[in-house]
Amino acid sequence: MSTAGFNSQNGTGTGQTYTNGPSQNPVALQQPPGVGYGMNHQPAYNPMQAKVLGPPNPALYASGPHQPVPPGPQLGSYPPPPAQPLLTRPQIGVLPSHTPPQSASPGPGPRQAQATPPAQATPPPPAVTSTSYYTGPPAWQYAAPRGPAPNHVNPAAAAPSHSSAQPPGPGAPPTSIHGYPQPGTAPPPMNPPPPHTYQPNRPAYGPPPTAPPARPPGATGTPPPPKVDAGAAQPGPPGRHLGHYPSLPPGYQNTLAPPPSSLHPALQAATQPYTQGPQPYQQQPGGPGPDQLSPSMAAMSLQSGTPEALRVVNLLQERNLLPPAPVPAPTPCLTQDLQKLNCSPEVFRCTLTSIPQTQSLLNKAKLPLGLLLHPFKDLSQLPVVTSSTIVRCRSCRTYINPFVSFLDQRRWKCNLCYRVNDVPEEFMYNPVSRSYGEPHKRPEVQNATIEFIAPSEYMLRPPQPAVYLFVLDVSHNAVETGYLSVFCQSLLDNINALPGDSRTKVGFITFDSTIHFYNLQEGLSQPQMLIVSDIEDIFLPTPDSLLVNLNECKELVQDLLKSLPNLFEKTMETQSALGSALQAAFKLLSPTGGRMSVFQTQLPNLGVGALQSREDPNQRASAKDVQHLSPATDFYKKLALDCSGQQVAVDLFLLSAQYCDLASLGCISRFSAGSVYYYPSYHHQHNPAQVERFQRDLKRYLTRKIGFEAVMRIRCTKGLSIHTFHGNFFVRSTDLLSLPNVNPDAGFAVQMSIEENLDDMQVVSFQAALLYTSSKGERRIRVHTMCLPVVSSLSDVFAGADVQAVTGLLACMAVDRSVTSSLSDARDAMTNAAIDSLSSYRQSALTIQQPGLLAPACLRLFPLYILALLKQKAFRTGTSTRLDERVFAMYQLKYQPLAFAMLMIHPALYRLDDLSDEGALNINERTIPQPRVLQLSVEKLSREGAFLMDAGLVMYLWIGRNCHQNFLSQVLGVSSYAAVPEKLCLLPELDTAESQRTRALVSWLRDQRPFFPSLHIIRDESQLKPHFMQNMIEDRTESALSYYEFLLHLQQQISK
Ligand SMILES: [Zn+2]
Repeated sequence: MSTAGFNSQNGTGTGQTYTNGPSQNPVALQQPPGVGYGMNHQPAYNPMQAKVLGPPNPALYASGPHQPVPPGPQLGSYPPPPAQPLLTRPQIGVLPSHTPPQSASPGPGPRQAQATPPAQATPPPPAVTSTSYYTGPPAWQYAAPRGPAPNHVNPAAAAPSHSSAQPPGPGAPPTSIHGYPQPGTAPPPMNPPPPHTYQPNRPAYGPPPTAPPARPPGATGTPPPPKVDAGAAQPGPPGRHLGHYPSLPPGYQNTLAPPPSSLHPALQAATQPYTQGPQPYQQQPGGPGPDQLSPSMAAMSLQSGTPEALRVVNLLQERNLLPPAPVPAPTPCLTQDLQKLNCSPEVFRCTLTSIPQTQSLLNKAKLPLGLLLHPFKDLSQLPVVTSSTIVRCRSCRTYINPFVSFLDQRRWKCNLCYRVNDVPEEFMYNPVSRSYGEPHKRPEVQNATIEFIAPSEYMLRPPQPAVYLFVLDVSHNAVETGYLSVFCQSLLDNINALPGDSRTKVGFITFDSTIHFYNLQEGLSQPQMLIVSDIEDIFLPTPDSLLVNLNECKELVQDLLKSLPNLFEKTMETQSALGSALQAAFKLLSPTGGRMSVFQTQLPNLGVGALQSREDPNQRASAKDVQHLSPATDFYKKLALDCSGQQVAVDLFLLSAQYCDLASLGCISRFSAGSVYYYPSYHHQHNPAQVERFQRDLKRYLTRKIGFEAVMRIRCTKGLSIHTFHGNFFVRSTDLLSLPNVNPDAGFAVQMSIEENLDDMQVVSFQAALLYTSSKGERRIRVHTMCLPVVSSLSDVFAGADVQAVTGLLACMAVDRSVTSSLSDARDAMTNAAIDSLSSYRQSALTIQQPGLLAPACLRLFPLYILALLKQKAFRTGTSTRLDERVFAMYQLKYQPLAFAMLMIHPALYRLDDLSDEGALNINERTIPQPRVLQLSVEKLSREGAFLMDAGLVMYLWIGRNCHQNFLSQVLGVSSYAAVPEKLCLLPELDTAESQRTRALVSWLRDQRPFFPSLHIIRDESQLKPHFMQNMIEDRTESALSYYEFLLHLQQQISK
């Protein structure tokens, strides 16, 4: 066992064509190339210490496919894997080494339509050019907390954050989230002088003013009253517009604090009458005080000695490890009071819910440290605050949040950089309780997830309208698939549900070997098609009438949608000039920004961006490395960066039976913060399941919430540093993600390292702030803050491990590794992740040595999940896998929120023929059965049963050969097994209890996710059976180990 090992955060690496994160890890950069994985205190990585890589050749095992290997004595003599040459032991988490892609993207020069045919003479384009849009200081600056420091503030600390006086460091990001930097240019100054100063003469603390609170000069009249638009559970009076500050009652200084029992203990002290001075709430530098936070493990040790998370599990003996219900996120070891305020794990998760105090402790644990986010998730309750003052740390720009501390009523201490800030006068009023003088009760300090409506006086230009441009493949191949009529009908059905307001604009482009525009100008009697055949130098024929106001031109738009499918019915045009169509669409959207939805059915083969087939079908099942995972051209990435610079996101719908080079095409979405949808073998007649999925996905896509011109910044407590991002976006500055669109179904992940010891801290915090323009033209900021304990012992680090988050982050890292290095490297690195962490646990955390493959209970599923990743479509070898499907799976792993990615990695298996109402959920008067989750092994199947496998994007209902007659007739409506149709993808709606239960479960599972999984009902001899069986992760196949064999392999490596 090598001492240097898996250290995902600081691996060196070469080539970085796939990751988005161009940010460099300054620590690792100091190391000579080729030397170190570890931090300075760690021994240098020695590749020659590498262990034999990869699982042994499964051909050693004689049994056929899908034979579960029962544990038993005969396996004690597990043969060693065949000797393989020593290879460099790969690590996941290579450092991005390419320069930030800004350089690839030219600065957006003034753009205008290149030509206008005389016949279509139109007024010149609007005077606003793309460059003038973002000149000057960016919008969305909040003047109050910025600029010249009040006289009691240390000027250095209050210096504008872009100045060179700003100390670098993770706690003090160099730029504000509120920027609109352009590609190819330095981010504009983030902190221009404020339009007005902020209570310059107010003392640091003391009695409140007896006069009405001072208004910032420049704000005319009264400020907009604070408004709280809270969810149903939000306490407080129902009023939304909450008037003026109440005048202060006499003797205000002596107002009694509320009864302590009603308060968060952290805040009790702060509510003492402050005539006593700022005595309360003394705390360690680094977080809430000792009275608030128990020593990290105290809470655990109150239980029976060892916390459940650290219970030692011998994986070779305990076979049934899956909990009966989906695995819940672990709860951080915080006091109840802090945890009650913490961010939901559905939005914010960390791979380690107890943060190691030092990088060397993290290195010892051999687990990756990172965050997984679902920042724009649809929420049933979201407190929304309108306030003219958004309170942020003057130093690091963190938004005030539940984990800051109040030194007294007038000062709060930032939980990320520890600067002491003033509480603005306006913040003293609580719109929820309509009381004054309780800043700690403001919704901002009571909710870890909150949304602000940005005050309009700080905006430089009106937020952009909702603009939707549809770019449609109308080649012969496209018409053959029949997708166009489904698309047009979906848009017709949902046209009034498109998010937007009276300013919403739409436009259409179709293309084959030429580009077709549609003049939808108000006043025309019918849509006018304009064909541009010069695809080498694309121009917009009538720039002003191609994107039209939806409300004003709805009839023309509807006319077009009704006629489009017929328009190309007889086309024989087989060529596809996708690249030129995208260029045209970019030109059209550049002045406003917006969303481009591209529908493509074949490999683009004409003009710019033309591609050639790179897939060799004979290599699909190869056990060797997979080629062509990286793009063939940088055309799509460059165009995506141009789009990103103009606030345009591109969503790609790929509907094709043939290879389309998704690895190249997908770049258009990845770097513009779009999404990729893939419908392999789409055909309107032959593939009804795909048609239904496409329809449902389109409905969700067209009607879901959307945010425009968005940026996201993730901040963390000083000492921690974020260095690699995963998801679809472009990294503008070191930690500012540019998201021209943000949608509620997008997930993100980041990797972190510990740059300074967190010795004196008991908790650390993470904050994600997403600034966006709503479809109604409001500028909003959604803020999520998570607080986690810091621990100093290795067992505490292990006890806090979140095995699903670790797996999700490893999957992202392995995708990068597959592209920058090779698939086999990525596979080996994943295996090593399991070996290294369990080995470290055994060597350093276990006090009593015992035989077996030992894991702490919280990591007991880790080897299973790693094996599942090795068998996942993205990473598997030896099983026939189309290149586009593999690349799509890789996209999904990087982009799906964790809950959905986990279903792709480890599907859920349920038995359906004996569903009962025992333990069922009751939702809206519907009873939803909750069958237990079964292990993914043929052992768990029975010929007498029916089993549902939920694999995320797809579900299989497998019917056993001797399936109970009752299930066949009452659920499937057939008389016998032989009567089950070959291609069945719909459960009949029968009026039986069994049918209702089954359909209730399936539709409930579908409702849990934003995309629509197709359902395939399969018999034993069905064509799709191999797809079902490939997900039987615990069983061996011709090319992959069984779970038990994999455990033996791990054990052997660990005991080396
Ligand atoms: Zn701060």
